Amino acid sequence: PDPVARDPWAELNPQQREAVAYGAAPDAGPLLVIAGAGSGKTSTLAHRVARLIADGADPNRILLLTFSRRAAAEMERRVGRVLQAVLGMRPGGAQPPALQWAGTFHAVGARLLREYAPRIGLSESFTIHDRGDAEDLMGLARHELGYSGAKSRFPLKGTCLSIYSRAVNAQEPLDRVLARHFPWCAQWEAQLKALFGAYVAAKQDQHVLDYDDLLLYWAEMMKEPAVAEEVGGVFEHVLVDEYQDTNRLQAAILLAMKPDGRGLTVVGDDAQSIYSFRAATVRNILDFPGQFARPAQVVTLERNYRSTQPILDASNAVIAESPERYAKQLWTDRASSQKPELVYVSDESGQARWVADQVLARREAGVRLISQAALFRSASHSAALELELTRRNIPYVKFGGLKFLEAAHIKDVLSLLRWARNPLGRLAGFRAVQLLPGVGPATAARVLDAMAAADLPRQALQAFKPGAAVAADWQPFLETVLALGDPALAWPADLDLALRWYLPQLPRLYDDPVVRQADLDQLARIAGTYASREQFLTELTLDPPDATSGQSGAPLLDEDYMILSTIHSAKGQEWRAVYVLNVVDGCIPSDMSTGDADEIEEERRLLYVAMTRARERLQLVVPQRFYVHQQSGLGDRHVYGTRSRFVPDALLPLFEVLPKSRGQAAGAAPVREGSRIDIAGRLRGAWS
Ligand code: ATP
Ligand code: MG
Repeated sequence: PDPVARDPWAELNPQQREAVAYGAAPDAGPLLVIAGAGSGKTSTLAHRVARLIADGADPNRILLLTFSRRAAAEMERRVGRVLQAVLGMRPGGAQPPALQWAGTFHAVGARLLREYAPRIGLSESFTIHDRGDAEDLMGLARHELGYSGAKSRFPLKGTCLSIYSRAVNAQEPLDRVLARHFPWCAQWEAQLKALFGAYVAAKQDQHVLDYDDLLLYWAEMMKEPAVAEEVGGVFEHVLVDEYQDTNRLQAAILLAMKPDGRGLTVVGDDAQSIYSFRAATVRNILDFPGQFARPAQVVTLERNYRSTQPILDASNAVIAESPERYAKQLWTDRASSQKPELVYVSDESGQARWVADQVLARREAGVRLISQAALFRSASHSAALELELTRRNIPYVKFGGLKFLEAAHIKDVLSLLRWARNPLGRLAGFRAVQLLPGVGPATAARVLDAMAAADLPRQALQAFKPGAAVAADWQPFLETVLALGDPALAWPADLDLALRWYLPQLPRLYDDPVVRQADLDQLARIAGTYASREQFLTELTLDPPDATSGQSGAPLLDEDYMILSTIHSAKGQEWRAVYVLNVVDGCIPSDMSTGDADEIEEERRLLYVAMTRARERLQLVVPQRFYVHQQSGLGDRHVYGTRSRFVPDALLPLFEVLPKSRGQAAGAAPVREGSRIDIAGRLRGAWS
């Protein structure tokens, strides 16, 4: 029987209970739960939400901010389960109240901005640009300013966007951002300023927001006292999970939502901070207690409920080697004689075969596929494993990898929908118009220019006279676009309408129309689960569905499948068996970051996050022939990587080394102290 079903609070330990019940007094201040991996931070947060609701809080006035949509859904499920028990509901009987406001900062921002758009001079039909769109728009602005000549050494559009994004999210002036993170671009400061000005103006003219704007406009809106009071007042309680991975802008938003900290709860773990490349800063969590007039209540949790003692010992040892201080001593009563394993394999295909064998063996032993995960440093590292799993018919779902929405045909359809709704969105329009046979960039630009110059863009579109060669195809296209622009058209009927025009174009546009049609069928199926076109476009842009084996698409929810995930996307989750791939120097830490000591420490935390996902079984796999990139006096070269420096010889007794024939000496990687390659220093030097 489910223990929660009997007494939902009974399973909590005293510290967890303190955090759950905190704030019954009306003047209670902010609450911080800071604790190690698997200590029940997320569970405690879920119980706290349930407790608040059980004590009479209005679920519509609770804002729950999580790291992903999946995490929000999981949290909602947990809250529901506890509430059912508290309220004495029978499972399957009346539904517990749903949380209206659970999601990522970006998704919540998008929704608030839609609601408050008229108040802040924003078009209600604004389009959200994903990373690719944002890069393209930046590229256009770069081109228009004349920075993109063939001989120009001006930073590429992707780099420009990263610089811009970093300045926005870290709330830092451009010169600081350049000096610290992009020293090789510092000489372009004046041009970059002009470029960002042009980029911002283009977004505003076209009624588009990029990801960063979802936070930025939210923060700006909160600077208006009347709006701040209204928006802040909507939410009695604001709770944030994974607070260590928020950035300055997000912290500013929280402070504006709850200036005195009342009703504000944040939880996190400084040892798991892994998003500094997106301007997240661990200072947020460290500064939190002293940020308010009333000091925050701080609760720490030290008991780990997830992992066995040997897994915890090895994870603790990896993080303890760090020169940084993380104030945590985790313990568990889950004893086990099974140490985590350090497995040497020949190369990546050997690794793929090994993992597939292990996965099947575990399944024989009763561990379902869905309780097993392979984790890796970057999305491309799973290719060999994906091939092997496909060959053996082992189904899998991949998190944090290839984005369904980045496929060209999906973008085609979405750009039709977006442009019909926001006719000033140039990128969507540019793409949509060129779907017509015989229409190239020049014609597309003429159409869009005419629309941008008109007071009523749709009428300008209707009045547009295409050349004779295009005329026959123009009319049905025009009718589709105009029909799609009708706000009265219900969802998902508009998607059907768009597909009715688009599907017949597929064989002309692509060599593999059949596969693409299957993807679009999938898209139509997913569409039905969203309430409106706005919600569909927003959520799909911000947090696309995960890719599956077979083809890109939504997971096959009713089947058993194993999980492949980047470590970054595995945050907060747990599996009975975890395989960490490529535990090789040059991979963890990555060869991109073998410079700066801070970056190296972030890579250590990444390995710590990976290891602490495991409940019963943990394997770190080390391919002996894994090419890593190395810069030396002789220039760039590729060398075989050695075991990750985060698992030095001193830690080997905490692992079982496989294969057994490989003694400790043979398994030992040379200690490469002093051999760190200071790429960042060199790059800085090149520009000084
Ligand atoms: P992470 O740092 O990885 O996000 P976390 O601190 O959020 O971890 P949870 O995911 O909340 O930890 O909990 C880890 C596991 O421990 C879950 O399986 C959860 O159900 C279980 N757990 C948490 N608290 C208790 C408890 N008091 N008794 C039994 N199990 C618990
Ligand atoms: Mg958690």
